[in-house]
Order: sequence, then structure tokens, then C-alpha cells
Amino acid sequence: MSLFENALRQFDKACKVMDLDPNLQAVLSKPKRELTVNFPVKMDDGSIRVFTGHRVQHNIARGPAKGGIRYHPNVTLDEVRALAFWMTWKSAVADIPYGGGKGGVTVDPKELSDGELERLSRRFFSEIQVIIGEDRDIPAPDVNTNPQIMAWYMDTYSMNVGHSVLGIVTGKPLDIGGSKGRTEATGRGVRVCVEEATNYLRDKGKINKPNNQLTVAIHGFGNVGSYAALLTAEELGMKVVAFSDSSTGVYKEDGFTPEEIRDIMDYISARKARLIDYKDGNFKHITNDELLTLDVDILIPAAIENVITEKNAKDVRAKLIVEGANGPITPEADEILNEKGVLIVPDFLANSGGVTVSYFEWVQGLQYYFWELEDVRNALHRKMKDAFWSTIRTMEKYNTDMRSAAYIIAIERVATATRLRGIYP
Ligand code: NAD
Repeated sequence: MSLFENALRQFDKACKVMDLDPNLQAVLSKPKRELTVNFPVKMDDGSIRVFTGHRVQHNIARGPAKGGIRYHPNVTLDEVRALAFWMTWKSAVADIPYGGGKGGVTVDPKELSDGELERLSRRFFSEIQVIIGEDRDIPAPDVNTNPQIMAWYMDTYSMNVGHSVLGIVTGKPLDIGGSKGRTEATGRGVRVCVEEATNYLRDKGKINKPNNQLTVAIHGFGNVGSYAALLTAEELGMKVVAFSDSSTGVYKEDGFTPEEIRDIMDYISARKARLIDYKDGNFKHITNDELLTLDVDILIPAAIENVITEKNAKDVRAKLIVEGANGPITPEADEILNEKGVLIVPDFLANSGGVTVSYFEWVQGLQYYFWELEDVRNALHRKMKDAFWSTIRTMEKYNTDMRSAAYIIAIERVATATRLRGIYP
């Protein structure tokens, strides 16, 4: 089964629960527009290589398409289509006025020199310019693309149209129209979901401890995981007892202080190091498998996909899982955890802080008016809280799990926009 067919399975399940009109279901299950480009790039040795890339716009009923561009040898049109489809639901559940889009180039960027990478990026962006625009489709970074590449994209588009267009991409460097608070945004969104979900479980009598006795384990200590660890400790006062990266896990029964977490973050980012390289800590090493089944209240998988599977799901002891990563729980494990009564805040809600601050960056760029960090944080908290509680209300209304509820609310919003706009002509 292709990735896109797999994505449709979740969608079809939610459509059934909400009894969606089959005509609308047919419209929403197909991407609106797909562009494949084959383009030449001059290599440093004088040869020319032809690369293939794609940009897919799944749905634009609620606003311009939005979604990252990835560079990876495994990029296919089917993968980009599935990722664009998920972006439609992520934008809708976060209630930001965007549709879903995604792009990718089939390339291993590690094999390219800086000059080749720049020429590839500029040529690809020129090739897809026929369908993108600040009010049509706004790309962003994804796997193996970064703020520098966004700067090249922005410059390429601006050169082609003859003036600077800040709103054409998000994830830009701060000096050329990036937003304050973008780096921490996804981890901060996860932290908001942890706080709200804990309040919800307390109301339901499923959590009876104050925050400073609640234990948290975090799988992955990259951008999302490290900020999730720092902010749950620093701002929520919870006991972050464990976190890990691909090299090792670290465990401390009394919890890591925010200062310790910050020190480790600084150490890793200054040296491009891994957790295993950090020798100053007073902690125990554990494996990633041990971390996932620790006796903690809250588990935040924030590394990669498919880490909680039918093999380890029954051993997971957390009452609350907030998915920082995309797809960390397989469908089979999801069923086991739901049966055990674990509350799972699904990925496209829990990690929507990043796209939400991307939306703020776009708004700032369109207005040439840049916000203070506090304004970005406050606006992000409001958006995440609203999205969280709308999903909880939908979950209770349909008596379903939170993942299906998030799909239902997203599909309802896109279906309503489609219904109101009508079918042209
Ligand atoms: P990152 O590359 O900064 O960090 C990934 C972390 O996971 C690293 O610490 C790495 O060592 C660890 N890791 C990798 N393989 C592992 C393994 N097998 N076991 C344990 N740890 C492992 O990536 P990120 O930006 O933090 O993204 C993490 C996840 O969140 C991805 O699924 C990504 O798609 C998703 N996400 C990220 C953002 C964002 O704004 N960065 C937004 C939405 C979703």
C-alpha cells in the first residue's frame, strides 16, 4: 500500500464516523494540483545533472497551500502527495487560513557542494514558480532544507518578479524576514498540549498529582524534543526524568533542572555533538527502548516515526502521550494504547506550533511589521489552546479517540469552506 493510500485510510475512517457527504469526501480525497519538474543543474566539474522535483497542492479551500520542501533520495510524487494531504488537515485543525501543500526534490544533498546546492535550489524554485506565490502557495523548510535555502528561494523569486517578496516562503533567517520564536515553536506547542491535556486528565480524575510530581520522558532531543524538555521543566515545573537522542538516553530520578537541560542543549548545538558525548552530567544512561516504557506519567515521542509499535505498546506506562514527531505510533499500537485508556494528543495537532508560527511569519512579512517575542508566544499559546480544546470537545461529541477527533474537526472545517464556496462554475 502506498503512503498516500495509507493516509486515505485514516481519512476514510473519520469520514465514516462523521457521516460526511460522499461527494465532498471524493473532492477532499484528491490533490487539487500536482506539478513534476525535471531540471538541469551545472555541477562543479562542468557536467550537467538532471534532477526531478515535485510540488503538490492538496487543497486550497481555506487559503493558500502551505507546506515544506524536502531534499531526500527517496522523495517520490506519492510521498509528496501524502504529505500535502496531511498538511491540509494540520492547517485546518490548527485553524490557520491555509490549505495543504508539499514539495520535494529527489536528491541526496550531502553529495552536493554548497554551490551545487544553491544552484539546484534556485533552479527548482524557478521551475515551480508557475504555481507558487505569497497568496497561492507558501513553502517552508522540511527534511534537509534550512533557513539558508529559504533565503535562496526568497531571493530567486524576488529577482524573477523584480522586488523583494517576504511572504513567499517561511522559515527564513531572522535578518531577512524570519519570525522571532520560530525555532522553539514546535516544542512550545507540545508544551501547551502537555499543560492542557494534564488539566483535562485532572478534571477527569485520571491524574491526581500536582505538576511538580508529574514525570515526563522525551524520545528525541533535536529541535522539537529539546524545547519540549526545557519548557515542560521550566514553565510547567514538571519532572523531566529522561530524554534521548539516537546515541543514548539519559535518566535522572529527581528530574533534570531547566539549567541542566539548557546546558546540554548548548553543549550539543555548539559542538554538533550527541548526548553520549556529554560527560558532565550526574545521570544514568538508558536505552531508547527502555525510555519508551519507563514508569512515567507523560511520554513525548519527538524523534522519528514508528517507535511505538504492537511489540512495545502494551509495555508503555504513560497515561498521556503527546506526539511531537510525525507518526511515532503505528496504527496497531494506537489501538492497543486506546484500549488501555491512554490519552494520545495526535501529531498533526501536537506539533502544529511550527506551522502556526510560520503563519505568523507570513503575516508579518505581508505587513512589513515584525512582532516582539512575547507577542509571538502569546499568539501561539492562544492558537494551540483553542485547537486542543476544540479537539477535546469533538472527541467527546463523537465518543471517539483524539486522533479521529482531530481529523473530524479538520475535515469539517475544509468541508464547510468547500460547501460555502460551492463548486465552480
Ligand atoms: P531533529 O533532526 O532536530 O531531531 C531529531 C532527534 O531525534 C535527534 O535528537 C536525533 O538524534 C533523534 N533520533 C533520530 N533517530 C533516533 C532513534 N532511532 N532513536 C532515538 N532518537 C533518534 O528533528 P526535529 O526537527 O526535532 O523533528 C523531530 C520530529 O518532529 C520529526 O518527526 C519531524 O517531522 C517532526 N516535526 C518537526 C517540526 C519542527 O518544527 N522541527 C515540526 C513538525 C513536526
